[in-house]
Amino acid sequence: MEELLLSQISEKFTTSTLQKMSAFYDNKKVSPPPGALFRAKTNNGTITAYHSGKVLFQGKSPIKEFERWASEQKENHEQQLSNRTHHSKYTPSHKIFTMSHIGSDESGTGDYFGPVTVCAVYVKKEYIEILKQIGIQDSKKITDKQIPLLAKQLIEMNIPYSSMVLDNPTYNKLQKQGWTQGKMKTMLHYHVIDKLLKKIRDEYFEGIVIDQFCQPTVFKKHLATENHSLHDKTYFITKAESYSIAVAAASVIARLRFLQEMERLSNLIDTPLLKGASKAVDEQIGHIIQSKGEEVLHEIAKVHFANTKKAKQLL
Ligand code: MN
Repeated sequence: MEELLLSQISEKFTTSTLQKMSAFYDNKKVSPPPGALFRAKTNNGTITAYHSGKVLFQGKSPIKEFERWASEQKENHEQQLSNRTHHSKYTPSHKIFTMSHIGSDESGTGDYFGPVTVCAVYVKKEYIEILKQIGIQDSKKITDKQIPLLAKQLIEMNIPYSSMVLDNPTYNKLQKQGWTQGKMKTMLHYHVIDKLLKKIRDEYFEGIVIDQFCQPTVFKKHLATENHSLHDKTYFITKAESYSIAVAAASVIARLRFLQEMERLSNLIDTPLLKGASKAVDEQIGHIIQSKGEEVLHEIAKVHFANTKKAKQLL
């Protein structure tokens, strides 16, 4: 009857906790099943640890054994979280996301055709819930079909924003001058934030959150090369759109402007241009080169992308 499994708990632990467990249960060990690191039996039940870190607590009262390790597990988890986010003085505190703040994000950086667009949005505390309710979230989680309607709602609510489009001729020119895409993005974020700050004047905001695409020190270095410096209270965090409704709103408007430009460029060359930078894009580039000549790419594409070369090899 001892083998009857009344209940079980399964949890993943770190290597260091596994080592401690192994030592703790050393005199209770029995032969482990295939693939297991060790198995131990106590009055409370059976503990089976696997190489993956997974530990199975089974038997009469597995919770009693699990509880010995649960608090340690929590500490490890918190440590992992803080390791992952690389805290610095540029990391926003979480309370900023519940207060009036500015967020900025860009679109089009991975797409061969079309511009890079960027937007900064100022969201007052009172609007945070409303924006969530109308479905504002990371634009990557919204279909391109839904973007215009959501963006329209934002604009109709008079949410203060500022956006910019870096068109392809200018992008290509800067790229030839030695600007990296990182520097272009940095300057775009800087300018939309600057324009927005002038627009909202003395409205209170807790801080500015930029969806992090490079280390803050690199961002500052790019600004310095153009004689600018970081605006006060600027913070960086990756996946910012999942924390900040202002960044999420900015991602929606930036995406709208990207889509509008893609439509304009598609009309310009009488071809619905593809998004992204896939193999299908390479083929489309080939068709465009054959029908319109290579020169037109400067008007509609980020020509330094490897796609240009790949497309020419296909010809
Ligand atoms: Mn982003």
